[in-house]
Formats: sequence, structure tokens, C-alpha cells
Amino acid sequence: MNRAMIEIQGLRKSFGTLEVLRNINFSVAQGGVVALIGPSGSGKSTLLRCMNLLVTPDSGRISVGDMEFDFGSRSPRPRTRALAAFRARTGMVFQSFNLFGHLTVLGNVMEAPLRVRRMPAGAARDLAMAQLSKVGLADRADQMPHTLSGGQKQRVAIARALAMEPQVMLFDEATSALDPELVGEVLATMRALATAGMTMVIVTHEIAFAREVADRIVFMRDGLVVEDGPARDVIDNPQQEATRSFLSHFH
Ligand code: ADP
Ligand code: MG
Repeated sequence: MNRAMIEIQGLRKSFGTLEVLRNINFSVAQGGVVALIGPSGSGKSTLLRCMNLLVTPDSGRISVGDMEFDFGSRSPRPRTRALAAFRARTGMVFQSFNLFGHLTVLGNVMEAPLRVRRMPAGAARDLAMAQLSKVGLADRADQMPHTLSGGQKQRVAIARALAMEPQVMLFDEATSALDPELVGEVLATMRALATAGMTMVIVTHEIAFAREVADRIVFMRDGLVVEDGPARDVIDNPQQEATRSFLSHFH
């Protein structure tokens, strides 16, 4: 149970002359939940995108499950098919839900099983309905996205990511675009996933949620991991001045 599901070593990424990730080392146990916090511009989204290979690191190693990539000048560029297989292991949920407006809720969740996994329609439908049940929206399957609240849209986006049956779920400020009264239902869905044993990395400004649901908190600043420890310890008794200063904005 303590096996690492995600392991990152020596990860670096620059955009032009801007060093956004500087030698990041980071791991998440199987079934572990890590909250990634830090000021705007500290590199949280870039780190998450590297885990999904939406951003290609300049150097370092990333493994998810039994698949590993080594980035650097001496390593060959990973093949497209290997990248796709790797990417399919991580489900990503963004601040903006990006649902397909011309498809029903069910159509949105069936899309990847049908087109990426090439499942037969009946099996894709069953899988999609099972994921919609998980997020409490099976009864909305035939509605169009524009008829849903922001919280419901985000729960559909979570179901859509789950329909790839990923080994890891990555959340990038999944509740930041929501009206305050809709945040709770999305956090509840995330909490249920965590309780069910999903390995998760959550970028969030919901500090109370992070303290309660994450087992570890990683605080980043300027492309570096500044503090990494048990969630309650980091929130209640931060060891670094930078962490303390950041957290003071939330009280
Ligand atoms: P965070 O999510 O913690 O706010 P980001 O990872 O989004 O931080 O960004 C870290 C830094 O990298 C910022 O200065 C941002 O402007 C820059 N950055 C992110 N993506 C790109 C990109 N594609 N091109 C150039 N600069 C980028
Ligand atoms: Mg970000």
C-alpha cells in the first residue's frame, strides 16, 4: 500500500529564460492524496501539467504506476504512442470545465471511452453511467451542459476524466471558478474519490479542505518545493517562514 504511484525526480522546466520548475522531487503513494499549495506563479499548474505530459519537462524523471519517462538531452524523445498511454493514466480536471457544448452530459462522459479507448457503444454507455452515478448526476445524463449549474458541470468534468479509468486524478483549482455556494458539492465529490482510494494531486486554495482531505501538503514557491509534510502539521505548524506567510493570508 506504500508503493509510490507517482514519482518525480530532478524535474526542471523553463519557459524561455524563466525557470518555472527548479529540481522538483515529489512522490505520491498509491491511494495517497497530496494538496499542492503556493502563491500564484509558483509553478503548481506547470508541475501538474508535467505529470500529465501536457508540458514536456526539460529534464528529470517522472513515473506513474509502472511507466516511466526520463527527460533530458541524452534521452530520446518519448514516442507518441507511449505518451498517449501515459497520459491515459492520469485524469485531469481544470478550473474551466471545457465540456463539449453540443453533446449531452452522457455524450460528454462517453466521448473518451468511444474515441480514445474505442469501446463498443453499449459498454461505453454503461461505464459513463457508472461514473455519472459516482458524481451524483446519473439523473442528468440526457441534459445539455448549458442547463447545468457550474458545480454540476464540474462534476460532469470529473466523471468524464474518470471514464478513462485513470490511476491518478489531478485537479487544478477545480473550484476556483465556482460561485461560493457551489464549491461544497464539488469538494464533496473529490472527498468521496479520495475516500474510495483514488491517488490524487489537488492544487487548491481551499486550505481547510486540504487540511481535512489530503494526507500530505506540499508548499511551492518560485519553482521549488519549500515544505512537504503531513497535512495537519504543515497547516497548523508550518516549519518555513514562507509557508507561514502564505498561510496567514487565509485566516
Ligand atoms: P501557478 O499555477 O502556481 O500559478 P504556473 O505553473 O501557472 O503557476 O506558472 C508559473 C510561471 O510560469 C508563471 O510565471 C507563468 O507566467 C509561467 N508560465 C506558465 N506557463 C507558461 C507558458 N506556457 N509559457 C510561458 N510562461 C509560462
Ligand atoms: Mg495555476
